[in-house]
Amino acid sequence: MDFKKIETKWQKKWEKEKIFEVKEDQKKKKFYCLEMYPYPSASGLHMGHARNYSIGDCYTRFKRMQGFNVLYPMGYDSFGLPAENAAIAAKSHPKKFTEAAIKTYIKQQKKLGFSYDWNRILSSHDPEYYKWNQYFFLKFLENGLVYRKLAPVNWCSKCDTALANEQVHSGKCWRHKDTDIEIKHLNQWFIKTTKYSEELLDKIDNLQWPEKIKAMQKNWIGKSYGTEINFKINGENWPVFTTRPDTIFGVTFMVISAQHPKLMKLVTKEEKKNVEELLKKIKSVSEVEMEELEKEGAFTGSYALNPLTKEKIPVYVGNFVVAEYGSGMVMAVPAHDQRDFEFAKKYKIPIKVVIKPEKSELDYKTISRAYTDDGVLVNSKEFDGMNNKKAIEEITKYLESRKLGKKTTQFKLRDWLVSRQRYWGTPIPIIYCEKCGVVPVPEKDLPVVLPEKVKFGQGNPLATNKEFVNTICPKCKGKAKRETDTMDTFFDSSWYFIRYCDNKNTKEPFEKKKSEYWMPVDQYIGGAEHACMHLIYARFFTKALRDLGFVSFDEPFTRLFNQGLLQMGGFVMSKSRGNVVLPDTISEKYGIDTGRLFLLFVASPDKDMEWSDEGVESSYKFITRFYELSTLKNGNGKKDNFIVSKREATIKSVTQNIDEFKFNIAIKDIIELVNYVHKYRDQISKTVYKETLERISLILSPFTPHICEELWSKIEKKTFISLEKWPEADENKIDKKALELEEMFKKTLEDLNHVLKLAKLKLAKGEKAYLYFVTEKELEYFKDNLEFTKQQFTFKEITPFLVKDHKKYDPQNKASKAKYGKPGIYLE
Ligand SMILES: [Zn+2]
Ligand SMILES: [Zn+2]
Repeated sequence: MDFKKIETKWQKKWEKEKIFEVKEDQKKKKFYCLEMYPYPSASGLHMGHARNYSIGDCYTRFKRMQGFNVLYPMGYDSFGLPAENAAIAAKSHPKKFTEAAIKTYIKQQKKLGFSYDWNRILSSHDPEYYKWNQYFFLKFLENGLVYRKLAPVNWCSKCDTALANEQVHSGKCWRHKDTDIEIKHLNQWFIKTTKYSEELLDKIDNLQWPEKIKAMQKNWIGKSYGTEINFKINGENWPVFTTRPDTIFGVTFMVISAQHPKLMKLVTKEEKKNVEELLKKIKSVSEVEMEELEKEGAFTGSYALNPLTKEKIPVYVGNFVVAEYGSGMVMAVPAHDQRDFEFAKKYKIPIKVVIKPEKSELDYKTISRAYTDDGVLVNSKEFDGMNNKKAIEEITKYLESRKLGKKTTQFKLRDWLVSRQRYWGTPIPIIYCEKCGVVPVPEKDLPVVLPEKVKFGQGNPLATNKEFVNTICPKCKGKAKRETDTMDTFFDSSWYFIRYCDNKNTKEPFEKKKSEYWMPVDQYIGGAEHACMHLIYARFFTKALRDLGFVSFDEPFTRLFNQGLLQMGGFVMSKSRGNVVLPDTISEKYGIDTGRLFLLFVASPDKDMEWSDEGVESSYKFITRFYELSTLKNGNGKKDNFIVSKREATIKSVTQNIDEFKFNIAIKDIIELVNYVHKYRDQISKTVYKETLERISLILSPFTPHICEELWSKIEKKTFISLEKWPEADENKIDKKALELEEMFKKTLEDLNHVLKLAKLKLAKGEKAYLYFVTEKELEYFKDNLEFTKQQFTFKEITPFLVKDHKKYDPQNKASKAKYGKPGIYLE
């Protein structure tokens, strides 16, 4: 069999007949399947990528055969820092570099036989695409969803740009795990993601996403209920958020964020040097990250007035408070908060107990850690003796009645910083005029095209192109300058999935009607690392576009699947590690169907899997064995009923397992069926044989499409199997009794292995097993099927007997223990 010839032949036919291109069809139910669009790296695809796309392609082919009108597009996340850096290193231009990489990707993906609608391709660096990024940016600006402000931002010196909070992990850059984030104060553009905090959180539970991802998003958005209490500092009002108003009488210091814009106003002359030294040391500005840092601080010299006790409380600056959280200041109660306790011990600040256990006393002098359990209030004036849960309500009411505070909610989610001081991204469509200030580029002047001529390595590259920078103010026609920052590329990926619905539209980002037909994405496939980045931004974008009237759905991705990683030698495949297997190598040697089958068979798609050459080899053998069946046989028909029953049962289980992404189990069942057909070739009548071959080809085709098309044509079918109807299992033909027997057989094997394990004989050589069956039917079935499953257990010899056989070998009378469905077992 010439795999290469077969593969090329069918890929050409598919392309020529455009069989995977789709249009809206109101009469047909749609299904939108999508893999996260890849960043085209210069090294091309490796088998890890091939696995991801094979998962998506298999599922898509299955849905298509089930009669859905399936949209399955591919595109490229082609803007971004990695491409810019790689191009600079290669002394090339990012555009040239990226476009070459995209070409390689397309060529490789086509060779793998994926059923994409190539007519819908898009690349985010294409001005026809990023024009709409700019358009949406301006729409957001018009509607108060974009703003510019001077803010403390995360800066990575290796990326040479500011980053979003989502891109800082444990105080380091998400791309550079060895690089500490610095804080810079810059004028930056922000997207108001926080406008949707509430909805982003509420709607998570409706999504059919992995629970892990849902939990991560919930935690990132981080809603908490609490009370805002008004403290006074230097006569000015400072509302401070707390979830523990019951501890207000135990506040012994306040902490202001190190990034607070008004921090220096609170710092007295005497303390200035200490504070400045601290600020130099402080790294991240994201809340989640801060929880992991060693707490550090310095006294500002200022005092806050506690509204209930009227005490003067020292204000510290600390590295564990976010500037935008509440007012950027928190009240600290060291006796009842471990973080505050450690800070107080470190800086020798008094500790005051205000909650104690109901039945015992608590002394601030002897406690070795904060008391965080519930209890009753002490040292809290009229609230003394009150249960602290009740005190949360009562103290809040008390504060509200005196206008000293109010009930409120807080989120951890911050607005999205989108300005990047790098070249390879969408230019932000803004002009700065000395007279008119910030002026948006008029819609008719879009796109603001990214100029090709820039200098790298001298700060912001766009600033080096004078023709780009110097422009005319659209309002007063005077001299003006363009914004030189570009957009975070997560902006590009926040709506690309809608553009696929209408990718050639030059008049608008997409036609609403088309988006209404195809969206939302029914099945999205991609890595779990996007939980708190792309998957939050895309949800925000969808909601914003809905409220601006562009779309009419609430959520972009109904169902999400996270694939596992492909490893080799215990490590994830990567070019830098040098453990990469290339799809080309496999298709040269075994054909791409073998590669696909192996990738989907070895492990459940959501689990990590290890590459193995033996696995590839056995996949190859299976495909060869399957292909050999295509020479039709005319047998005596003795096994017809058995095969038909087995076949229909397999169709039933395969259908269910593909739908649940248990591809490995589906393949295992098909292999078993093929093995039976192979074994009983001479005992199957011609009609049943042909019908069986047809039905196997259909259910195998999502996994190994080329060989199935070929076999389909060899049994004189004139259609594409890829467009055929998925077979429905005929339940009436399934022999339930036979299935029961089979179950029993499998159970017996499991028992055998279990007994072996217990006896710890597994590694010993020459062990023998004797089985005693109650009925002849069991015995027969066991004998019939033994050779198929030999590899599953480690016995050298297995001899089955009937219980009533007088001549059986049974020195320990184990036959007496046999029951129907559970044979007696003797080992030696
Ligand atoms: Zn970096
Ligand atoms: Zn102007």
